[in-house]
Amino acid sequence: MKTIVITGASTGIGEAIAKKLAENDYRVILVARNKERLEKVTKEINEMASHSATFYQVDVSSQSQVEDMVNDVKDKFGSIYGYINNAGVMLDSEVVKGNVTSWEQMIDVNIKGVLYGTSLVIPDMIENGAGHIINISSVSGHEVTKKSTVYSATKFAVRAISQGLEKELARTGVRITNISPGMVDTNLSPNRQEMNRKPLEAVDIANGVLYALSQPNYVNVNELTIRPN
Ligand code: NDP
Repeated sequence: MKTIVITGASTGIGEAIAKKLAENDYRVILVARNKERLEKVTKEINEMASHSATFYQVDVSSQSQVEDMVNDVKDKFGSIYGYINNAGVMLDSEVVKGNVTSWEQMIDVNIKGVLYGTSLVIPDMIENGAGHIINISSVSGHEVTKKSTVYSATKFAVRAISQGLEKELARTGVRITNISPGMVDTNLSPNRQEMNRKPLEAVDIANGVLYALSQPNYVNVNELTIRPN
């Protein structure tokens, strides 16, 4: 059974990814801060998919917490096949508003969080000649609106990290997928009700993750953009 770590798995897109992968015979490691939510989702998965889920209460913006989690997962379950950088926050993003605390939080979680986990798991993946990093960026990593400046900057950064990894990991056997969702119906965005079309469901992104993971080894799905129709 392949082990996949999913950050931000206590709710929203990460929860849907964890459930989808558990249904498809992956061992899923759920990572987030909210212990109650993590316990609930882990229990739901284990009731349906024969004890294939475990959770870790971790703040991904803490390098030491991420490192302790990665080491413990390796001790308990052997190698980590997949690492899904999904945890993210969207806060006050207009530069003119000057909300430095919000910017720092977005940079710490959305960018540093991705780098910490990725850099810790990649060496073993390269040694094994197999593995898969999946980064959840956003359409805000392709386009900027007047309200999304700093959030977009972090999501452009995620996409840049994915593109760099494409080159760094070429011919190592380790795959990299960047997924850019449009509006998804989760708690992330206060504006989702204002859309004049049906937003995506979290499971629609989980389906994209499963698609990328389940391709033959020689196929590297580098970029998926998934928007509401
Ligand atoms: P939610 O707010 O529903 O979920 C965010 C998840 O991230 C939660 O599980 C939260 O868990 C976790 N998280 C936040 N901060 C931290 C942290 N410091 N350490 C560990 N976990 C953390 O949002 P979504 O499911 O919508 O978002 C998931 C990803 O998808 C994000 O990266 C987001 O930017 C991206 N995305 C979302 C879109 C949307 O429309 N919803 C569109 C495009 C991209 P906890 O609070 O328990 O720590």
